[in-house]
Amino acid sequence: MNRPNIVILGAGYGGIMTAVNLQKKMSPEEANITLVNKHDYHYQTTWLHENAAGTLHHDRTRIAIKDVVDFNKINFVQDTVQSIDPKSKTVTLEDGELSYDYLVIGLGFESATFGIEGLKEHAFSIQNINSARLIRDHIEYNFAQYNLEKDERQDLITIIVGGAGFTGIEFVAELANRIPELCQEYDVPKDKVRLINVEAGPTALAGFDPELVEYAMNRLEEKGVEFKLGTMIKKVNEEGIIVEKDEEQEEIKSKNVIWAAGVTGNSIVQESGFETNRGRVPVRNDLRTPDYDDVFVVGDCAVIMNPESERPYPPTAQIAIQMADVVAHNLKQLVSGSEKLEGFEPNIQGTVASLGHTDAIGVVFDDKKLFGRSASIMKKVIDNRYLMKLGGVGLVLKKGKLDMYH
Ligand code: FAD
Ligand code: NAD
Repeated sequence: MNRPNIVILGAGYGGIMTAVNLQKKMSPEEANITLVNKHDYHYQTTWLHENAAGTLHHDRTRIAIKDVVDFNKINFVQDTVQSIDPKSKTVTLEDGELSYDYLVIGLGFESATFGIEGLKEHAFSIQNINSARLIRDHIEYNFAQYNLEKDERQDLITIIVGGAGFTGIEFVAELANRIPELCQEYDVPKDKVRLINVEAGPTALAGFDPELVEYAMNRLEEKGVEFKLGTMIKKVNEEGIIVEKDEEQEEIKSKNVIWAAGVTGNSIVQESGFETNRGRVPVRNDLRTPDYDDVFVVGDCAVIMNPESERPYPPTAQIAIQMADVVAHNLKQLVSGSEKLEGFEPNIQGTVASLGHTDAIGVVFDDKKLFGRSASIMKKVIDNRYLMKLGGVGLVLKKGKLDMYH
């Protein structure tokens, strides 16, 4: 094979970092590298809840691909992947077809809807820039509408967030900060607004340090968040949601239902016939699929097991970025004719969840607990470190969170 074709699908954390690593490791004489993405920008999924709440403009979150990928070394194709045929080694795009010698799948996540009736039709979810922007505008529209109605329409100013995992909690925290601004802007009495977080399990942030969970819930309750724990969303309709707790059902009327209760791998992967486990490919140690030596998977489309807990590692940006280092290394090996591939070993440096602009909770360096401002600074350091890795100091200065100390 001379000058093999390497095709990378998706420019999320896993895909774009694979491309950026490869452009450093390989010359155009060694391989033809193509990156395919739906948009001409990469976005930081980890900031989308801020865009959806309206506390951060989405232009801060997105980064033009041309600003970090060298188009002299990598072909960029802006198109939407429809399907992959690993037998004929082709990828069908909305607007054409690509063939590959090596493929990297980094198509990210989708909301897991668990077959809940009406969810797809009537609830919003935080998935990308477009959906985050829509949520922000939708909530704002309903606040604007409130004073135009003859009768009091509580459903317009009731916001329901499904799920109190990290996404749900981070989003609720941003909303709790945003609501006072919205009330001022649209002359809505703040004490009338309801912000409800519905969680099926007995606690928010299941599995996380209980002291930090309590801190987070107290802080959010002080800001007016109503938690409904042990309460499962059973149905969503035009009017709102039906929940169930202790076999009792309740209807909560709301025009603003946002589902943040879990993710699965991009459905294209399963539909293309790859072996999957709950929508994600159980990759081999070297991050190739079980069945194909020429297909790697990075990020949320892949699942890897934690041997200690015997459970899958939660899909995170942290892991996607680390996977991209190994995939780029292994591609370089294969292109150079070596079969000596590196195994992937996640190096979990901690978990930090933001609770708005100046507050957060986290566990870092194995067991150091952080909360409040120190955790918030840590979160911004993590974000800035990623930007540094992706695009150097220039990108940190342009997009980074440098307002750490105020
Ligand atoms: P993604 O980031 O999902 O990117 C996928 C890319 O593929 C996108 O560019 C998309 O446009 C493109 N794409 C999708 N479909 C197609 C198609 N058909 N054709 C072409 N292109 C396509 N993790 C952390 O480690 N720390 C955090 O603080 C954190 N915070 C989070 C906050 C929120 C609100 C959410 C939702 C998640 C958070 N996560 C966090 C999880 C993290 O964002 C994901 O694990 C991570 O984004 C996965 O990266 P990825 O590369 O697999 O794909
Ligand atoms: P999750 O799976 O971690 O949490 C979903 C929550 O929704 C769970 O608590 C679950 O009990 C609840 N739920 C499920 N069905 C429900 C129903 N019918 N009614 C009510 N509640 C229901 O999902 P997530 O929060 O979207 O996170 C996805 C991934 O992204 C995770 O791996 C997470 O670690 C990662 N993430 C990390 C951060 C961070 O590190 N700061 C932030 C956001 C997301």
